[in-house]
Amino acid sequence: MSDTFDVLNPATEDVVKTVHMASADEIDSVVAKAQSAWPAWRDLAPGARADVLRKFAQLVSESNEELAKLEVLEAGHTIGNARWEAQNVANVLNYMAGGVERLNGHQIPVPGGIDITFHEAIGVVGIIVPWNFPMPVAAWGFAPALAAGNTVVLKPAETTPLTALRLAELALEAGIPENVFNVVPGFGKVAGQRIVDHPAIRKICFTGSTAVGTSIMQASASQLKRVTLELGGKSPTIIFADADIEKAAKAAPGAVFDNSGQDCCARSRILVQRSVYDEVLAYMEPVVKEMHTGNPADESVDMGPLISALQRDRVQSFVPEGAPVLFQGDAPTGKGFWFPPTVLAPISESDIQYSQEIFGPVAVVIPFDDEADAIRMANGTDYGLAGSIWTRDVGRAMRMARGVESGVISINSHSAVRYWTPFGGFKKSGIGRELGPNAIEAFTETKNVFISTED
Ligand code: NAP
Ligand code: MG
Repeated sequence: MSDTFDVLNPATEDVVKTVHMASADEIDSVVAKAQSAWPAWRDLAPGARADVLRKFAQLVSESNEELAKLEVLEAGHTIGNARWEAQNVANVLNYMAGGVERLNGHQIPVPGGIDITFHEAIGVVGIIVPWNFPMPVAAWGFAPALAAGNTVVLKPAETTPLTALRLAELALEAGIPENVFNVVPGFGKVAGQRIVDHPAIRKICFTGSTAVGTSIMQASASQLKRVTLELGGKSPTIIFADADIEKAAKAAPGAVFDNSGQDCCARSRILVQRSVYDEVLAYMEPVVKEMHTGNPADESVDMGPLISALQRDRVQSFVPEGAPVLFQGDAPTGKGFWFPPTVLAPISESDIQYSQEIFGPVAVVIPFDDEADAIRMANGTDYGLAGSIWTRDVGRAMRMARGVESGVISINSHSAVRYWTPFGGFKKSGIGRELGPNAIEAFTETKNVFISTED
């Protein structure tokens, strides 16, 4: 395997930068340094660790435009999204910094003494990041890992290493000691695999495909290595006849096509109560057709390219000749990995477009009859990450929210991710939760200490 990778601008196919890809031996040497940097970082006074993370957050905020433009270049994200993503890193760092001094244990009543618990740092944590949200997903791992007193070895996706490398520079500038936060570009099968197999790495935090996540869990089992897995999704938007139909229908395309559909939370199955099916499609059609796909650096663009030729071909394979394309937006032709926003219908529950994660701008619309039917269909895939329920009936909203087997549900909204609320999946969408009030604890081991008060 080559030891370099050409990072391409997915909107133009130009080489942005050629990046060195780490070998397994290079990973070993980074892990050794991260191990030796661990005790000093772990033992830093909580307030001091929080301060340096806040300084890191401040530098990320000040570099917002630079980081955002880099993400437009390497990932083809729209500039507006990229600014939000860079700011999310700063927000997550600040939030997790606030947790360092609140990493409280319990005091538990026991006879004959005192019982207290500690949340101990784990050691070196491996973080493996996908290309769809390179900055936020990295930060959801490294910010709580560092806050809890661990050192980090982070491998970005081969296609999107540049913002992660820049974040590592900003960390050093902020005063995070050398070798505490290590970003190492490399191929998944080489560097990623070595991070998973390395015995000194005590936890893996992985976001990406269910297939790779499954293989990581299998490989980790032999060492009983801790894992947090954020994997794929095939999330539903569920629109009942009693909803604000216009609002629900007009919001549905954005919930699939944002980030060109390369979003694990994409609401790519639009389930519509049969009596309002035609009305919903009538509201959706102009929204999809008027979406502006093009140069992601242009402020007015709604959708950029896909990440790579490989991803475009994967997405295309779900829309073969003769696929039931109900309506489609536009996309540029020529250089760049473009795919237009596409709505498929009619579609049946046995079609692969209904059950498999496409990870591109392709939505399916399908009718349902009643609440029981909607729950059965919502739960009818292997995944369980997100979901949106549109109804004005509060009882129904809550019955649906409890009935849908997903980690993140929104009612009359598509919002999924806030850094201060928990995020993660049921079923094959993952294991564990990121973000929210308990995120730091996922990067610790609980220690129970009993102190005898007997003479
Ligand atoms: P992927 O293979 O799961 O990649 C995610 C990360 O894992 C990358 O950093 C990758 O490195 C690394 N990796 C790959 N094989 C590895 C291994 N054996 N051991 C350790 N690390 C490994 O995802 P993909 O190939 O880029 O995308 C494939 C599909 O996965 C997409 O079409 C989509 O359906 C899904 N996906 C989901 C998410 C999500 O957020 N849920 C994110 C990305 C992709 P390389 O970059 O070198 O491959
Ligand atoms: Mg891959």
